[in-house]
This record gives sequence, C-alpha cells and structure tokens, in this order.
Amino acid sequence: MIVLARPSFHNGEKMQRLLRILLALFLLAPPALAADGPFLINGAIVTPGRVIQNGWITLQGGKISAISETRPTAAGARTLVTRDIVFPGFIDLHNHPLYGVFPRWHPPKVYPNRYEWRADAGYWQAIQTPEGKLVATRFCDMDAYVEMKALMGGTTSLLGIYRPADTDAVPPCVAGLVRNLDWATGFHGDGVGHERAGNVLGVRPNDLKLSEETLAQIKRGPIDLIAVHLGEGQRNDPDSRAEFARLKDLKLLTPNTAIIHGVALSEADFGEIKAAGASFIWSPRSNFELYGETADIAAAARQRVTMALAPDWSPTGSTNMLAEIVYAKGVIDRQFKGLVSPQQLFEMATSIPARIARIDDKAGSLKPGLAADLFLLRGDASKPFDALVTARPEDVTLTVIDGVPLFGTSDHMSALGVTALETVNLCGQARAINPHAIADGFADITARLTGALRSENLTLAGLAECN
Ligand SMILES: [Zn+2]
Repeated sequence: MIVLARPSFHNGEKMQRLLRILLALFLLAPPALAADGPFLINGAIVTPGRVIQNGWITLQGGKISAISETRPTAAGARTLVTRDIVFPGFIDLHNHPLYGVFPRWHPPKVYPNRYEWRADAGYWQAIQTPEGKLVATRFCDMDAYVEMKALMGGTTSLLGIYRPADTDAVPPCVAGLVRNLDWATGFHGDGVGHERAGNVLGVRPNDLKLSEETLAQIKRGPIDLIAVHLGEGQRNDPDSRAEFARLKDLKLLTPNTAIIHGVALSEADFGEIKAAGASFIWSPRSNFELYGETADIAAAARQRVTMALAPDWSPTGSTNMLAEIVYAKGVIDRQFKGLVSPQQLFEMATSIPARIARIDDKAGSLKPGLAADLFLLRGDASKPFDALVTARPEDVTLTVIDGVPLFGTSDHMSALGVTALETVNLCGQARAINPHAIADGFADITARLTGALRSENLTLAGLAECN
C-alpha cells in the first residue's frame, strides 16, 4: 500500500503537473487490493457443525469475523452473492510441489519400493535431472506456477517446498500465494523461516543425514510436526517394512509424527501408530501408479488412526488436493466400499490435517476467528460433499487466502473489488488471477518455464487435468 503525502505547495501549474503524474502512476499501477475488507460472501457455508444454506460469511483483516444465516449489515462491505458452496481451504501435508511443472511421468512398470524407481534411468531423464537444473535457475518461477496450481484446486496451506541445493533456506519469493507450512505461513511471523513443520523423505540411515536438524528440533520443541515418508513400497517389500522398525529405533514414532504412504504397513503397525498418538497421510493415486496398490486404510480405520489425505506430487499423483479427493472417492468405491464418506474425505483434507499440523486454531475450518482461507465450488449446494468428491477443476470459482481473493471467475473477483485481472484458461474456462498475487505476471512466468523446459525437450505441465 502506497500512502501519498498531501502536497504542500500551492502553485497552480505545479499542482496540475503533480496531478498528471499521480494519474499516470495510478493508471500504470494496478489498483491497491482491499484485502482488509470487510467482504461478505453468500452461498452454502460449510461449517464444522452443519452446512448453512444461503448463508453469509464475513471476512475482515484476513480473518473470518462472522458466519450467519441472515445477511449482516456491514458498512462499506464488498459483497459477493452466489449459489456456490463455500469450503475451508485444503491443507496439503504431503506434496513435492516444485515437481508440478513437469508433465506426468508414466512408470514403465510397478516397483517394489521407492528406492527402485528413484534409481530408474528413465525417471532421471524425464524428471530428476531436469528438475535439478530448473530448481537451480528458476526456483521463483517454479514456486509461483505450482502454488497457483495448488490454489486453483482450493489448497490454502501446503507442505513440501524445498530449498535449492546450494542454499540454507528457500528464497524469500516462497512467501505469498499458498501458505508454506515449512517455510512461510504468516501464522508465526512475517517472512520465511519461522515455521513449525518439517518434512523428511525417508528413515534410512543415509536419508537421516539430510534431516538431522529437523529431528533435533522435534526433540527440542520448536517443531510441531515431522512428516516422514515411510513404508513406501509394496505390502511385503522388506526394505519398506524395515523402515517402520527403524523409525521406532530412532524413537521417532511420536505424537508429532505423521507417516506418509505406509503402503507396507500391517494392521499391527497401524495399532502401534495409534498407540503412539502418531498420524497417517494417505496418497492413493501415486501409490497405485508406482506400486500397483495402496495402504490398507481399512486396517488403519479399524485401529482408529488419525488419517489425512494428500496428493504426493503431480508426476504420479494428483495435480492438487481437489483432484486427489476425486481420485480417492473412486478408490473407496472400488476397494473400501462404505469405509469413508464424502464428508469424511473432506475432513481428511481440511480439519484433520490442520489438527495434525497443530494449526487447527488458525485454519482448516470455517469458524469466526480463524484465517480467511477458503474456496468456492460450483455444484449442487444441497449435497456439498457429493459435489466436492465429483468436482471438475473448473468448478472452483474463487480461492481466498488470508482474506485476499487470489484466483477465481472475473465476476467473483470483481465483486470483491479486485480489478486489472490477469486471465488464464482453466479447462476451457476463463479464470482470473489477482494481479497483486504475482508481481511478475503469470503469463511471463509460464513463458519462461515453457522455454526452460523446452530446452530439456520437455513441455510445461498444464494447470489441471481436464476431463
Ligand atoms: Zn512424497
């Protein structure tokens, strides 16, 4: 926000020149964003206790200030009237978002475990080698592109951006757009480096060298959550099974531990996870594409394990949380009939990961006092959870983070006072990006990434997988 001092001189000609300069500056710069609100949004409001049909949610100062059945009186409020469903933003606890610039990788076979495909020359050629080059040269462009893909699918908090190899922290450009649970959420202070969640790739001794600091922090206290890839392989794969024993040897099966994948885990293992107060993050699509099977979530449910859902990454998982929910619904219908309801899938993507990450007092539900992190979905508002699990990418009509409308239809964005929009095509429909969200412009970022990938004989991944 620029605050202009009142001009102190009275010469008419000088004043006219100043006014012309100010007008030119105003026309050149996008209008300032009224992020403080108040904003009133009308629709079917999905609160923790019930869905308020034709309800109202008021956003002010980056927070949800009220939820009501009747239209509130709020002087000067920007008002958006819709028939859409208003959901809290998704909290994605398992992703490798930077890989979201790459097209899908189609594994030539199923693998017994993660170590095998990660050693596959074809994988290195298609993904890992170009990824290393791109992170070193185009980190901020990659970050902006993949975070836009996440929030286009309703994600408002995300874990898993990692730093370039030659730096100690991620570049400051990671702040903004989606909240980065490991680097910059805004929940624990401004800027990068105050966060309370850590991400560890594996529990082999070699992998642990990469994460000694994170492990030390969880023991000392400044880390609330450690998310560990574990048992990522087929059910009877010995390497994958050995990882759970290794985790226990390290005394890292704790209430602050979230186990990612766990395809190789047995029901007894899930019982131990429950007893330790640890939690579990399910990523079915990537499991099926790489290993031909997924975790035994029926066993996890029998053991009453706290379970969240997340997409892993887009090369073999889903593009974003919304797409993974739709995929998970198909897996449940095929393999775990009746085990998880559409409403429970919604909770596995919002309130449950918020509890796992110890941010449920800040985000994950639509409640007064929590962050104004939400998205709107077009669909049958009388069956909001069914609409969610059958949603198409283009059904998301607005995403708001910290009270700022970042993405949506131009109608919705304009109603909330965001103008000078940058337009993108999402599955054949025009969508608008808040021009303040990405200083460089999304089209320029897309063009630079397209060029960088072309020089590796690759194409830039699309914004979504369209039907
Ligand atoms: Zn992963």
